[in-house]
Amino acid sequence: MANKVSRRQFLHTASIGALGAAMAGALVGCSGSSGSSSTASASGTYTPGSYSATSKGISSDVTVTMTFDAESITDVTIDVSGETEGFGKDIGDELKEQILKAQSAEIDGHSGATITSDAVKDAVANCVAQAKGEPVVSTTPGQSTAEGESWRTAPDAITEFAKEYTADVVIVGGGQAGTPAARAAIEAGASVIVIESQTEDAMSFRGGGQIGHLNSEFLASKGIPQIDIQEFVTDWQLRTNNRSRCGLIMAYAKNSGKCFDWMTDSFTAEEKDSWSVRQWPLSSNYTQKKSGISTWVGTPTLNGDASPVKRCMEIAREKGADYHFGTKACQLIKDGDAVVGVVGKEADGSYIKFTAKKGVILCGGGFGGNAEMCRDLLIEISDYCSDDTAIGGMDDDGSGIQLGYWAGGRLESRPLSSMGGNYVYPCNSPGDPIGTTAALWVNCHGKRYCNEGFGDIVLAAMAGAKEPQGKIFTVFNDTIRTDLTYQAPGHMAVDYANGEDEKLDDIMQGAIDGGDAGYEVTGMSTVTVYAGEDAQQLGQRLGFTGTDLENFVATVARYNELCEKGVDEDFAKEPVLLRPLNGKHIFAYGAEKSMGSMLVTTGGLLTDDNSQVLGEDFEPIKGLFAAGNNCGGRFGFQYSTSIPGESLGLANTQGMMVGQYVAAL
Ligand SMILES: Cc1cc2nc3c(=O)[nH]c(=O)nc-3n(C[C@H](O)[C@H](O)[C@H](O)COP(=O)(O)OP(=O)(O)OC[C@H]3O[C@@H](n4cnc5c(N)ncnc54)[C@H](O)[C@@H]3O)c2cc1C
Repeated sequence: MANKVSRRQFLHTASIGALGAAMAGALVGCSGSSGSSSTASASGTYTPGSYSATSKGISSDVTVTMTFDAESITDVTIDVSGETEGFGKDIGDELKEQILKAQSAEIDGHSGATITSDAVKDAVANCVAQAKGEPVVSTTPGQSTAEGESWRTAPDAITEFAKEYTADVVIVGGGQAGTPAARAAIEAGASVIVIESQTEDAMSFRGGGQIGHLNSEFLASKGIPQIDIQEFVTDWQLRTNNRSRCGLIMAYAKNSGKCFDWMTDSFTAEEKDSWSVRQWPLSSNYTQKKSGISTWVGTPTLNGDASPVKRCMEIAREKGADYHFGTKACQLIKDGDAVVGVVGKEADGSYIKFTAKKGVILCGGGFGGNAEMCRDLLIEISDYCSDDTAIGGMDDDGSGIQLGYWAGGRLESRPLSSMGGNYVYPCNSPGDPIGTTAALWVNCHGKRYCNEGFGDIVLAAMAGAKEPQGKIFTVFNDTIRTDLTYQAPGHMAVDYANGEDEKLDDIMQGAIDGGDAGYEVTGMSTVTVYAGEDAQQLGQRLGFTGTDLENFVATVARYNELCEKGVDEDFAKEPVLLRPLNGKHIFAYGAEKSMGSMLVTTGGLLTDDNSQVLGEDFEPIKGLFAAGNNCGGRFGFQYSTSIPGESLGLANTQGMMVGQYVAAL
């Protein structure tokens, strides 16, 4: 790890290099040695002449050419002709004036055209560096040509088409958001085209089938209490630092139950009776809030023939939704500022023009499959990872978001959120039967480092990202099956109500029998669980030695002391989660801290409350909508849930609502 240099470190190192070069120049001057009269170091700030640089704007490469004499910038030419009409395209003269006045790249720019302004500033800084004879360093990560993000560059417009189709509503992606949108729009009387890149034979729906929602008739039929909408939305906004768009979350809270009942309306009562709900019935040990953050119950897991989205697609197609399988949407078509259609690419390389009379809905999923977008947009994760660490997921390639961005759509500000990648908890594997917040977590030096029960397991696990590289361990008591009934029933929590904890007795017995060798358990990853009659023996079996072993023993003793007191004086963990490690045996397992891998990304284009994509000026773009993981403003910095499965629940609900909305335009 120590030898790897991250992109940020690279930029920093390059800056230091530039400083070093400038200092070297200054020393040459002091020693009185004479250089060429035209060199910056000997006789002036700049080497006179003209310099050009290019940087990526919102929809084109922005080029700046600057003329310098020895001490000043004398002229600037800015080419922003490929930028958005009415915004970036019109700011060249204004920025030229600012640059000449400031004599540097330190200018205000134009507030309604920040991406174009940043690109100009970046190119100016590049020209200045060239004129000074310094190494060129991007001032705007993600914007310069050298460090550029090619996904941001729109391709040339396609104008020749093999076929043309028209519908009221054109949907890009027929997945968890797109298919409910298609069914809702067609049921509202609109004609619908769905462009889906998977072939019909291979068509599958992403996700493990956990559909988080609230207040459906289905949940009521199971005896699950109604959730207070005000409380739910407030919790969501707290959990996401108020970065989520409240109107979208309120719409989800009010409509996800209706959406679930609608999407499952063709299943029989017997079928629905057979569906279980995660964490239900809840243990009487459950408390709603952990460190002020709530969790609730509302997640059936439905796959295969019981998949609501699969059934939804069958219904939508029966009603006339026209699915174009094996067609990849590759551009949007604009008429002035309005989006009026989509260009699709067929397997044979030909292009199809899809005209949308009412609107285009982007439902193309996340960008976890696009490493370049991940590095650019998931900046918290890319900061944690070295450049050669793979960042990515089992996700789409981000093309839906690209289409919206190229058409002038505004991305939520970075870092965008994802389902994993920037947090670490012991084992770090969804479906892990032991991962629990009602235990002790220690780092590779045997030290406790956080409140293991903060919010839900995801929020708590944020702390692990900042621990030293090495293993992170969970230490738990032989009462684990009871202990975990106290924890929040959030994303990745053990579903004890439906038997997910049953393996634990065998695992603990296996660890006792295994002695020094421990007991290997394979969930989504493989870990070895060890038992010890005390912390010393357990610590040795985990591989701790020297000071780390002493730390481990002291940490367990301190944790037990806090459990005894009922107050976590070190990290403020909820008293109900302070479960002592005082059994005949205590247990632990560790897993190497690893970052960067996720299931999907969950951030994207900013929209208004009707899911209409916002432009650079924060006004809705006519004809353009986004739902599911093409849509930003939903999950803050990380996918953390008050009800497991809110990603599917929200994609379904938002899809249904935007389908109805666009159909009614
Ligand atoms: C292994 C795994 C398990 C998961 N389990 C759960 C779970 O249990 N509960 C939960 O809430 N979330 C879960 N998720 C996350 C969840 O699946 C996604 O968040 C959800 O599917 C997002 O819905 P979407 O409609 O935005 O995207 P998707 O469902 O991914 O749909 C996007 C669709 O668009 C198509 N497409 C993409 N680009 C184009 C293009 N350019 N042109 C045409 N078509 C295109 C794709 O083929 C796809 O069909 C899981 C994810 C993974 C990977």
